[in-house]
Amino acid sequence: MPASPTRADIDHAARLLRAGRLVAFPTETVYGLGANALNPAAVARIYAVKGRPPTSPLIVHVASIRMAQSLVTSWPDSAERLARRFWPGPLTLVLPKQAAIPAIVTANLPTVGLRLPAHPVANALIRAAGIPLAAPSANRFTELSPTTAEHVRKSLGNDVDFILDGGPCQVGIESTVLSLAGPQPVLLRPGGISRRDLESIVGPVETAESPADGAHSAPGMHPRHYSPRTKLLLISDGILPEQGQGIYLQHTRPPHQHVSEVRQMPNFADEYAAALYRQLHEADAGNYDWIAVDLPPAAPEWEAVLDRLRRAAFKSP
Ligand code: AMP
Ligand code: MG
Repeated sequence: MPASPTRADIDHAARLLRAGRLVAFPTETVYGLGANALNPAAVARIYAVKGRPPTSPLIVHVASIRMAQSLVTSWPDSAERLARRFWPGPLTLVLPKQAAIPAIVTANLPTVGLRLPAHPVANALIRAAGIPLAAPSANRFTELSPTTAEHVRKSLGNDVDFILDGGPCQVGIESTVLSLAGPQPVLLRPGGISRRDLESIVGPVETAESPADGAHSAPGMHPRHYSPRTKLLLISDGILPEQGQGIYLQHTRPPHQHVSEVRQMPNFADEYAAALYRQLHEADAGNYDWIAVDLPPAAPEWEAVLDRLRRAAFKSP
């Protein structure tokens, strides 16, 4: 399929979604595995195909602010201002849900995460289907997120009914998740919209504590997530393992020792984020013993990238 789906592709995908089937589609963050958010059986297939624990709620994708408002029981002023500023875009807002949203979508939580994606294919698809789409990333649970249609094919194969190819994702990491369900805005997951950008609209934003286990209020809060199969090492002094063959994803520090392969990562955080999963997918396919990542600085604009790198490197104790 071409990197720009035709009208017929979109209409076919929309029909499949209305019939309760699964469609992978591009968004500006990563590829999503979509199902009709109002159909519990269709949503159950998302969990089954991904191998995702039922404690991880799904983000519901909408085509307009009005569609978002129809799915919640309150739409505070903060939601209005954030949506007007950052939608369409990589920001998910968590709000008290309407009864029409099945419990399976939200892992029994009384709230729902909503997002209006910026990718034109995602928008056309939701409008054509005329229904909100529950869509986590289109990969098996804990694997690297897909930023191309090829990544989706490799991970899900025939378990997805149709894949819309919209080319590589521009943002490249998942959306920022912000809860507006309590008295204070709470950042549940850093992402494509920075904390500073949020605070410029709604004032101080609290940070969620990562729950030890059990009910994750956010799927992205599972500590090991977004991981390559190859061991991933975070390096801040250019010093690499003596043993085995590896690949080094350099930001600013050259490697101290000889290494089989060096990839230069982009200097700026947004370009780095856009390249991160593709580079990790490629490094993972290289059959190395390890992937070493030269850590970017602990500065505010790097919050989301550092979050994903830490989760990708996380090994259960
Ligand atoms: P994923 O779809 O895997 O990219 O991640 C979904 C993200 O949505 C998680 O990180 C959660 O933070 C968030 N999320 C979705 N629904 C809710 C909800 N009802 N409450 C809190 N977080 C949610
Ligand atoms: Mg995911």
